[in-house]
Amino acid sequence: MMDLLLLLFFSAAIGIGWWLGRRHQAQLQTPCVADENYYRGLNYLLNHDTDAALDLFIDSLEVNNHNLDTHLALGSAFRRKGEVDKAIQIHQNLLNRSGLTHHQLAQAQLELAHDFVKAGLLDRAEQLLLESAGFSSDKQAWGTLLLDIYQREKDWQKALDIARRFQLHKVPNLASRLSHYACEQAQEALDDEDLPAAKLLLKQAKGLKTDNPRVFMIDAAIAMQQQDYDLAGKHLRYLAEQEPSLIPNFLTDLAQCFAFATDQQAWQNWLDTCMQEHPSTSVMLALADVLRQESDTKAAAFVTKELRKRPSVKGFNYLIDLHMQWATDNARESLEALQGLTVALEQRKPAFQCKQCGYASSSMQWQCPTCHQWDTTKPVYGLRGE
Ligand SMILES: [Zn+2]
Repeated sequence: MMDLLLLLFFSAAIGIGWWLGRRHQAQLQTPCVADENYYRGLNYLLNHDTDAALDLFIDSLEVNNHNLDTHLALGSAFRRKGEVDKAIQIHQNLLNRSGLTHHQLAQAQLELAHDFVKAGLLDRAEQLLLESAGFSSDKQAWGTLLLDIYQREKDWQKALDIARRFQLHKVPNLASRLSHYACEQAQEALDDEDLPAAKLLLKQAKGLKTDNPRVFMIDAAIAMQQQDYDLAGKHLRYLAEQEPSLIPNFLTDLAQCFAFATDQQAWQNWLDTCMQEHPSTSVMLALADVLRQESDTKAAAFVTKELRKRPSVKGFNYLIDLHMQWATDNARESLEALQGLTVALEQRKPAFQCKQCGYASSSMQWQCPTCHQWDTTKPVYGLRGE
């Protein structure tokens, strides 16, 4: 289909080129060289020799105000098709022509930068965009493409600098991305145990997007590193209200916060409420652990009751573990065999999945490595998940 569209596109483009060429030739009163070019170009296309047809197109078609959009659209079509070298050839040809207005020049430069990014030539794209930014009337398009480049290079500081330069924080759908860039830096500072820098960067992240859940996760991690478990608990309980789907991610940390407060009853109450409002297998098993301190029988009864309502492989595994200790030798052997299967099932099923592209992983990722979207990876719920 794409080939057919390109063929039609090319034919139209060469047709226009032929017409413009013929008009030009008529003015010069010379014979029909453009006619020849048109038929030669068409012949190349019909023989699927798009390289030769493209060369002819570039040579024949004078760039002017009437057909600039045709050149740009043809270049974009090649890029979308994955033929980036042809897109680059068309856009570079445009830039080599004289007489373009500032606006036209900027259009061609932006398209060429897109070509370079698609080809993985990030340095060349960056250089072109930085050198030609002054020509652009569409600062947002310029800045966003530079942002994409720095994001791919994981150069968060340059990304934030360019966002400031092009005022990208005012673009609503970019605020979340920018906030994550500051979070990335905050996490790096935290890993280096530079807590003042981490706190400063988190403040920046919060300023860019107030309700970014990652900010509260890192805030809690900083508080825990400072052994302020009361504050860490507050951050995590707030996060549970704001983004319940993330509860399984930080349940272990929250358990630690309650343990340091030696308030077991408060922990159990929180889990009870959470089980009613945002049930998940992780919360159910945390509650079972609490009940197990009273008796294994009570924990087993609770898990059995919950599994009837919300069956899950992880919960079933826990129940087998509990029953294993009471089982006779023969029964234990059967339970072990059964557990071998359920453990394999649990391990084979990824715990997280991107809602945008379906990419599955065993650990939480704030940015999906496949579709590069932020905040799209969530814990998997259901029989083989939470
Ligand atoms: Zn994805």
